[in-house]
Amino acid sequence: MEFPAFSNGKNILEKLERHGYSAFFVGGAVRDFLIGRPIGDIDITTSAKPEQVKEVFPKVIPVGIEHGTVIVRHNGESFEVTTFRVEEGYSDFRHPDEVEFVDDLEKDLARRDFTMNAIAMDKQGKVIDPYYGRKSIKNKMIRTVGNPSERFSEDPLRMLRALRFASQLDFQLDSETFSALADGAVMIKEISTERITGELEKLFAGPYVSKGVELLRRSNLVDCLPVFKENRRLQDSLRQVKVPFGQLSELICMLVYWDKQVTISEWTKAWKLSNRTKKEAEQLYEAISYSRKKQIDAWLVYQLPSHLLDSFIRLHTTYFSPVRIDYINHLIHSLPIRQKRDLSVTGKDLIQWFPERKKGPWINQALTSLEKLVVIGELPNQKNVLKEWLKHEYHPQSTD
Ligand code: ATP
Ligand code: MG
Repeated sequence: MEFPAFSNGKNILEKLERHGYSAFFVGGAVRDFLIGRPIGDIDITTSAKPEQVKEVFPKVIPVGIEHGTVIVRHNGESFEVTTFRVEEGYSDFRHPDEVEFVDDLEKDLARRDFTMNAIAMDKQGKVIDPYYGRKSIKNKMIRTVGNPSERFSEDPLRMLRALRFASQLDFQLDSETFSALADGAVMIKEISTERITGELEKLFAGPYVSKGVELLRRSNLVDCLPVFKENRRLQDSLRQVKVPFGQLSELICMLVYWDKQVTISEWTKAWKLSNRTKKEAEQLYEAISYSRKKQIDAWLVYQLPSHLLDSFIRLHTTYFSPVRIDYINHLIHSLPIRQKRDLSVTGKDLIQWFPERKKGPWINQALTSLEKLVVIGELPNQKNVLKEWLKHEYHPQSTD
């Protein structure tokens, strides 16, 4: 079989085998390869223990030694190399014979979540598929390896993983898997918020997000998620989701826009999201609200950080009205200044021009007024003009 995307990975398998270990590709990369999607990071499963992998590849990154995982870098690519996981911890590996290795491989595959993720592939591209993962892929079905209720009780995060795969791949849940999920949804509360939001981020970014969201609602899993579980009404907002969200900040922005009973900071706190995500959600929300109240103008594009422009355009176009990108570009290119410090007037100038005033917040207020007038084109960015305007037109809110 031709599989050039795995060529660097093949070197890793060969090297492990030369040292007497067995090793296979597994997980998402094999699944995506068989589906015909572009593959992401490649996972490798091996009989070598992490210390032995380290001996074979001296420059490994120990990401989760306790779970038997290390990252091997090769030709600029990263590979997650994990020791076979079998029922009771690692196997003893005293038996370097091929049959035993395959036996360990099958045990490793048995511990994986879904049949489509429990397919191994050797360096020649030969597929080892004891749970008929290829059949599931052909039928676009998500099915647990073994009894779904047991597998979801062992690790309830798998329920959310099932839905995020539906959202990413446009697959259905097989009926037993779905029933077990709907029955076991409350178990998700045993899972840490960080792991939950990690999967939610992928679910909401999936190309078939409407499908993922529909399953989230239909299975009642949404009732068990932070924030949604305390505010059942919020679930209605989810009906409005139409297109994938590039990042969680976009989702939070829209959830708050649709239903103001939960604030951005409440969402980001309950979902344990970063300050960066919080800030971006706020900036997007500001921009969306401004454009709804006024219009898309120079002041809006000036205030919105450039890395959020795509998000803004996507949200606006999907949920409000189409945004002409050439218009936005025109606004950006016509901006007379890019940041406050581009103003031809500084705080020092103000102190000099108004010696009778004490230093205080009025300085910043005055600069902000000038900034806005210059950005929207009401005043030119010329020191003398701005000085005249301040002298005659500016009335500070306070005189301290
Ligand atoms: P992606 O393309 O998003 O990386 P993936 O299937 O590779 O999808 P990972 O989270 O990278 O997902 O996990 C790699 C593999 O490890 C999975 O394909 C699956 O075989 C196994 N796995 C991951 N999480 C679990 C889990 N909670 N329970 C059982 N097996 C799991
Ligand atoms: Mg993966």
